[in-house]
Amino acid sequence: MVTELAGAALKAIGVVRSRLKRLAQPDPSGAVSEVVVDQSLAEALDGLDDFSHIIVLYWMHQPAPGGLSLKVHPRGRREYPLVGLFATRSPRRPNPVGITAVRLLERRKNVLVVEGLDAFDGTPVLDIKPYVPQGDSVTDARVPPWISESYQVNRKLKDIYRRLIDCYGPQHWWPADGPFEMMVGAILTQSAAWRNVEKAIANLKAGRLLSPEALRRLPLPELAGLIRPCGYYNAKALKLNSLARWLGEACGDDLDRLFAVDAAALRQKLLSVHGVGEETADSILLYAAEKPVFVIDAYTRRIIDRLGVTPRAKGYAAYQSLFMYNLPTDSALFKEYHALLVRLAKEVCRRRPLCHSCCLSSICPSHSGCQG
Ligand code: SF4
Repeated sequence: MVTELAGAALKAIGVVRSRLKRLAQPDPSGAVSEVVVDQSLAEALDGLDDFSHIIVLYWMHQPAPGGLSLKVHPRGRREYPLVGLFATRSPRRPNPVGITAVRLLERRKNVLVVEGLDAFDGTPVLDIKPYVPQGDSVTDARVPPWISESYQVNRKLKDIYRRLIDCYGPQHWWPADGPFEMMVGAILTQSAAWRNVEKAIANLKAGRLLSPEALRRLPLPELAGLIRPCGYYNAKALKLNSLARWLGEACGDDLDRLFAVDAAALRQKLLSVHGVGEETADSILLYAAEKPVFVIDAYTRRIIDRLGVTPRAKGYAAYQSLFMYNLPTDSALFKEYHALLVRLAKEVCRRRPLCHSCCLSSICPSHSGCQG
């Protein structure tokens, strides 16, 4: 029987101000936000800044997709076991109360600047408590395997990124003048080295043919001749022509209009174009349309498998979910991460890996067994 709490009306004591507006999979780590406490309660915060961490209780006001369900797959991921709602942190609960321990960076009168709060902008805050490790932390806590696995993957993917960016620095991808050139490059680079794609694009530019309208008009044999350096030129000429025709029909060649569509819908549309598969569609979404979608290619799969982070399920979607569930939903991060993986695969983690010069060797289980 569900007991009514007569007279127990909750009052928000403040609100979260955050750049997290709406995320498919919030990742609080590193996110800095503000808890703006009601002015009338500012005095109640005195002494709180002596604590490095605090606990924030809040009301998850944004309706979670789907209704109340007593059994859920944690984080909505089918590879995790179906468990009871109260064995998860799912927001789809009778009282959508969220609780997070966060680092307190600063207090400014009635404003607390915190790191690691997984609450959206505008979330009502119900209460704030100091985090006391002697009472709030348990050293011998037991958790089910799916929890440990999830946190291990999360930590490992972030560690890989940190090591790659420290080693190689920003890669400044995608090397192109504008989104249409990126779309063309995403098709031409299929099974081709980038230096050859550059030659093909230079030929198109020299002929002032790098526009949807020009590519629609150009006879296929002529187009094939111009993009010959990047291989499979007859097939790619047809693909470019299909893309150009589709752009005319879908948005009148207005890419801003096209990219205003949300990522999932745009992905479906792109996948309907001849010659656009998942990797090409996601490259266009990420680099041309700036949508936070992770690109999976053969290089990524190879590195991830060797690093021992292979998802349970096989296939493009499983690898993509691995990154998208475990990293902040951030297109700049996804762009950089993908570019760094490609760099690593080309220079070091080749088919015959050169582990001795790899910046990931100390965290790679394949290191000892590989050549180089
Ligand atoms: S240590 Fe070797 S196998 Fe592991 S990521 Fe580096 S190059 Fe690849």
